[in-house]
Amino acid sequence: MKLTPHFTLAELTASRVATARGINNTPPPELLPRLVRLAQLLEAVRETLCAATPGGYCRVIVTSGYRCHELNAAVGSRTSSDHTQGHAADIVAPDFGAPTEVARLLAPLADTLQIGQLILEGVKGKQWVHISTHRPEKPVNRILTITDAGVVAGIVGLA
Ligand SMILES: [Zn+2]
Repeated sequence: MKLTPHFTLAELTASRVATARGINNTPPPELLPRLVRLAQLLEAVRETLCAATPGGYCRVIVTSGYRCHELNAAVGSRTSSDHTQGHAADIVAPDFGAPTEVARLLAPLADTLQIGQLILEGVKGKQWVHISTHRPEKPVNRILTITDAGVVAGIVGLA
């Protein structure tokens, strides 16, 4: 089912962990409008990244979107994660560049693109960009870098 021209419900719910563990990651119908909103945000992100990619074509790959509570716990995420609410997706855009570059391009455009929260996450060599339609209560938490060393405000590249 297409949510928007470039993003499907299947992409936003696919999970290797769910498949491996037999977890049914089908979102409840009431979360569908949120996933459509999330897909619309991803379209805006995709357009921005593609416009900045030589040749103009770039894939935006969703590595994790909606996660039911069982799946969310299985991947070790906190219970309150925006992924469980249909608000968030983790993406990579290898044609455009590394996750740090993706986050650096998007961070100053958060208001324009209506990104609620932007997080550069992961460890060196295995990073992704977390994008949520949901804005955290504290403005300082809107744009973050999270590594195994902890949480810092803003987008910080790994040394
Ligand atoms: Zn995430």
